[in-house]
Amino acid sequence: MSGFGPGHTGQSAELTGVMTFKATILTLYPDMFPGPLGHSLSGRALDKGLWQLETSQIRDFATDKHRSVDDTPAGGGAGMVLRADILARAIDAAAPAEDPRPRLLMSPRGAPFTQDRAHELAEGPGAVIVCGRFEGVDQRVIDARGLEEVSVGDYILSGGEIGALTMLDAVVRLIPGVMGNMDSAETESFEGGLLEHPQYTRPAEFEGLTIPEVLTSGNHRKIHEWRMAEAERLTRERRPDLWDAYMADEDDVD
Ligand code: SAH
Repeated sequence: MSGFGPGHTGQSAELTGVMTFKATILTLYPDMFPGPLGHSLSGRALDKGLWQLETSQIRDFATDKHRSVDDTPAGGGAGMVLRADILARAIDAAAPAEDPRPRLLMSPRGAPFTQDRAHELAEGPGAVIVCGRFEGVDQRVIDARGLEEVSVGDYILSGGEIGALTMLDAVVRLIPGVMGNMDSAETESFEGGLLEHPQYTRPAEFEGLTIPEVLTSGNHRKIHEWRMAEAERLTRERRPDLWDAYMADEDDVD
């Protein structure tokens, strides 16, 4: 198992008695981690010990001399399937039965990953994330280890790794202390059920285009109203699904 986190000089949050979010990734490509998560916000947080990342090479749990992890699908057809026995051994080594972390399997058949799920995970002890490859994994390991299937969208990736990176990126920025300014998280798209309003900055004029006057008025109430109206307009126009859910929620409050 390989870990990433604070060096000897870093003060680990674990040492200070605070529970740290820990992700364990089961993969055939451990070199893909921390990858992009080693940079910027999530990378600095990893160095500071605000979260931990560890990878486990599924192939280390193979038993034959070729260290094979997959086999042909029962019933025939194209491609290969990850074996249940090897994957189960990898899962048990990474997370014994008493490990409280949710066991997730990246899978296009899973429940779509959402900002709400990102919040839930960020508040928890971490996650054990299985990255599929080939045609996917033997159904029996999903059933026997209670894997929760999670999808990052309605398209097929060649493996679970990029999905796991995507999901973790969304989760890690919500861990307390990771983002300097939590205010910026609160108005973000999907928080509160709406897409975010348009943003502007300097210069005041760009190719003849100006900034909406209200934003430079200094009138905070007016600015808030404009942003809210724009967020509602964008959501209505672009995401009728989100808009309907938002309106249903508003009705509940009344
Ligand atoms: N045959 C499968 C797809 C296999 S793709 C099917 O049709 O459902 C190989 C692996 O990539 C999957 O096991 C999964 O771990 C990962 N993967 C592919 N698309 C994904 C998505 N949209 N979300 C999460 N994981 C995905």
